Order: sequence, then C-alpha cells, then structure tokens
Amino acid sequence: MESALDQPVLVLNRLWQAINTCSVRRAFTLLYQGQAQVVSAEEGNDFSTHDYRSWWDISQAKPEPVMVKTISFNIRIPRVIVLLMFDRLPKKEVKFTRHNVFERDKSTCQYCGKTFDRVGLNLDHVLPRDRGGQTTWENIVCSCIPCNTRKGNRLPHEAGMQLIRKPKRPKWRPFVNVSFTHHPHDSWKHFLDLAYWNVELGD
Ligand SMILES: [Zn+2]
Repeated sequence: MESALDQPVLVLNRLWQAINTCSVRRAFTLLYQGQAQVVSAEEGNDFSTHDYRSWWDISQAKPEPVMVKTISFNIRIPRVIVLLMFDRLPKKEVKFTRHNVFERDKSTCQYCGKTFDRVGLNLDHVLPRDRGGQTTWENIVCSCIPCNTRKGNRLPHEAGMQLIRKPKRPKWRPFVNVSFTHHPHDSWKHFLDLAYWNVELGD
C-alpha cells in the first residue's frame, strides 16, 4: 500500500487555479517553508486557508481517521494547497501534440464552429505550409473536412473565411484533460470544475 505521504495533493496558483499535483510530502515541505497554505473545504463551497501552524492546530482539534503520523504528533493530510508565490510555480509546457491541439480547440472546427468527432477533423495550417506557414501552436487549428476543402491552399480571408478565435499556445495544461493516475479526491472537484470552465471560456 502506498504511503500517505505519496498521495497526490492538488496545487492551486495564487489565482486559485488548479495547475498541478504534488505529493503530500512535497506539500508539507512547501507548507513548512511558508510557500503554500492548505485549502480546507468547509460547509458547501466555503474554503479556509491554513499555514503550517494553523493546520497543526486544526489537526489536533479536528482529527481525521487517516492522518500523517510523525514521531511526536499526527497531522491531517492536506488535499489541496495554494501557492503563495508565483515564482515557485512548476513550469509545465503544454506539449504541442495533435491530441493537445484537439483539446485546445475542443474538437471544434475553428472556421465554422461546429464540434466533430476527431475523425471528422483535420489539422489546418492557417498560413499554408507552402507559403511559409509553420507547424506551431499559432498556425495550426482544428478544421472540419468541408471547411478544410473550401479553404484549400489559401489564407482564411482569401477564402472568405474567418477563424472563430486566434490560435495560441495554451498557458496552462488544461487540467481536466490530465489523465489522473489516482482517483481525484472529492475536495478537488470544485477546483477542477472551475478549471474546466476557465478553459472553456478563457482565452
Ligand atoms: Zn468547419
């Protein structure tokens, strides 16, 4: 059985956006160093934050069945932490893969705005390849086959077409699409839902 210290903790940035997971062990280090605080779910969607001292206090006042046991005391397992600084963010570039382009574009044709099964979509070079267009986040979009055919070897405006949004490199790995090796903890749900909506509506 895995140690409680190896369990995953959801990591939020200062804007309370889910960005990553780390181990309980790492979360305690960040907590102890004052680089992060525990986010604890109260009734409903109210959250409180705790530094190491206050988490220790709450652990003694409200123990849970599963705790991290140290030599002298038990402490509750944090499930979500929030980083207090920006410069400690683990920088994870989103890999430029076919899968991630489909994820970024939500399997939606970037010309007609319709959603398709993946088999119904191509990757289109906005500036065609033989006119110097590169295979990059900024020049590749999902396109349905009819739109792709209509556009052909032209720029969108030359074909009387328009992109529904400007293609960009995603800022954060769209968290909802990360395949979890662990079942996400219940207390993550609020932040993952939030991440989902942020991905959906954000730039
Ligand atoms: Zn289309």
